[in-house]
This record gives sequence, structure tokens and C-alpha cells, in this order.
Amino acid sequence: MNKKHEKVIAPDVGWRNVTRAGIIPTAGNAEYYETGGWRTKKPVWIEDKCIHCLLCWRFCPDSSVIAEDGKFGRFDYEHCKGCGICVNVCPSDAIDFIDEGETSEGRNDGE
Ligand code: SF4
Ligand code: SF4
Repeated sequence: MNKKHEKVIAPDVGWRNVTRAGIIPTAGNAEYYETGGWRTKKPVWIEDKCIHCLLCWRFCPDSSVIAEDGKFGRFDYEHCKGCGICVNVCPSDAIDFIDEGETSEGRNDGE
């Protein structure tokens, strides 16, 4: 190992000291982090096509589909990571998937 490399790897900081995937090891804290900031694409609800089956609500891994009175209500964009699962499970193409920052004219994105 040359001198330059020795400087980069401190002797007391090895891979065993790093938390798995860098996750803070405290259970149940996800709601405190606005994971929506990770998103590059976002789902947009198309009200006219929705049949309120709630498959999107059931399959969203981040509980970011908010149901209201047994129907689709809105997306929680503070926590939606833009994984696209809701888009894929929707049986009636009622969720558009647009680039973050793109406008959604005529669509209800709840923002
Ligand atoms: S999966 Fe599609 S049709 Fe079903 S509630 Fe969600 S948006 Fe509406
Ligand atoms: S894009 Fe992913 S995280 Fe966002 S609402 Fe749909 S399923 Fe949930």
C-alpha cells in the first residue's frame, strides 16, 4: 500500500464499523424523514380513470397513498419515493408517472 492510499483509509474505520446501508439503527423512525426528496419521478392521480380499487394503497411500500372514506384520497409527496409500484399495479391507468418538476396540467397531483 502506498502512502497516498494509507491516508484515505483510516485504521479504525473499516467496513465493519459502517451501519448496514447507512441506515440509522432506530426502528420506526421513517416518518420523521422526508424521503420524497429522493424522488426523480412522481405519480399523479387521474381522477376520471380511477375506480377506487385501492390496489395502489395496498401495494405502496411507503404508505404514501392516503385513502379517505374507502377511496383514493391523495399521494403523500413528502414520503413518496417515486418507485412506480402504484403506477404498475393500477388496473385502469389512473396514475401518470411524470418527471419531478414537470407540470401536470389538468391532473390532480395534490400539490
Ligand atoms: S390503483 Fe388506480 S384505480 Fe385503484 S385506487 Fe389506485 S389510482 Fe384508483
Ligand atoms: S411511487 Fe411508490 S412510493 Fe410513491 S405512492 Fe407510488 S408506490 Fe408509493
